[in-house]
Amino acid sequence: MSKIRVGVNGYGTIGKRIADAVAKMPDMELVGIVKVTPDYGYLVAEQKGIPVYTIKDRIDKFKDKGFKVEGTIEDLLEQIEIIVDATPGGYGFYYKEKYYEKLINKGKLKAIYQGGEKSEVADISFNAYCNAEEALKANSIRIVSCNTTGLLRVICVLNNAFGVEKVRATIIRRAADPKEDKRGPVNSVKLNPPKIPSHHALDVKTVMPNIDIETAAVIVPTTLMHVHSVYMVLKTKVRVDEIIDELSNYNRILVIDAEKTGIDSTAKIVEAARDLLRSRYDIPELIIWKDSIYTRENELWFLQAVHQESIVVPENIDAIRGLARTDGYPDKSIKLTDSVLGIGKFLG
Ligand code: NAD
Repeated sequence: MSKIRVGVNGYGTIGKRIADAVAKMPDMELVGIVKVTPDYGYLVAEQKGIPVYTIKDRIDKFKDKGFKVEGTIEDLLEQIEIIVDATPGGYGFYYKEKYYEKLINKGKLKAIYQGGEKSEVADISFNAYCNAEEALKANSIRIVSCNTTGLLRVICVLNNAFGVEKVRATIIRRAADPKEDKRGPVNSVKLNPPKIPSHHALDVKTVMPNIDIETAAVIVPTTLMHVHSVYMVLKTKVRVDEIIDELSNYNRILVIDAEKTGIDSTAKIVEAARDLLRSRYDIPELIIWKDSIYTRENELWFLQAVHQESIVVPENIDAIRGLARTDGYPDKSIKLTDSVLGIGKFLG
């Protein structure tokens, strides 16, 4: 069976992780990546044997540094079935209009965009536990942001099992990714935005249009992970053990016992991932603290953590198989993605 030929545009926090994940998948081929800046990322790609492409007016900048590129983005697009766009928020629209759209219209290309784009960029917004089947009718997909992915995973799973009446969540956002040395706040808690609701609730609705959800968000000086305080009203009375049993059916949601393991902070989650020699200490699973799960009648409350750099990676891989109309999608895809990426094997 021929492999799905994939290209990745943008080789930053998200793009380099997607590129590595694609390269690991037995049914996919990473044909190349697009970079516009001739920096150490080029050398990393070269060392990994990944062909690097760029845009026409940047070729000389790469040449000046002695970096050999395979060709232009147009050359890459001719050789692939699916482009995963992981350029900074807003650029996806530019690339869509300038490069992807005409090939998509001719049936020669399908595209995946990230959560920094407005939802109109693609046919659908996507989460594998919520609306994976919709990918089979789409030619372009937007993977919602890291915070929205975390919220949707747990909302969809609990909605299927118990019915979700409404969700209220407070999002405590990391200030920057670890590599970003120019972003803050340095010593503050910043309202993000000052008004309630924050945009996260609207983003959840791009996948679950009928859900009653409101969110508030603040930014704090950490780079490791986001934390959400989630309050839900369910359609039935639930016990804590029923919630835990339900969540344990899903590899991409891990319930961690803070008292038993001592993992009561994002720093300790990250340290455990480092000790387990996880690549880049990535934690694509949504982490829910077992001790925080509290129920009263049909009310539910808990705390969860989201590793912003990696949570969207499995969703991108499943979306590729959805666009490629792979046999057995979505169940077989979700299983294969999890097994190849080692998802769910985190401290038992
Ligand atoms: P990033 O800045 O780390 O990476 C973007 C990469 O694209 C960089 O390597 C940059 O050099 C390159 N780039 C810049 N301009 C370009 C251009 N014109 N053409 C091609 N490449 C260009 O950004 P990121 O954090 O990887 O974010 C990418 C997308 O993923 C955004 O939509 C973002 O909202 C979304 N996202 C980010 C996170 C996160 O926490 N970092 C989480 C989920 C989703």
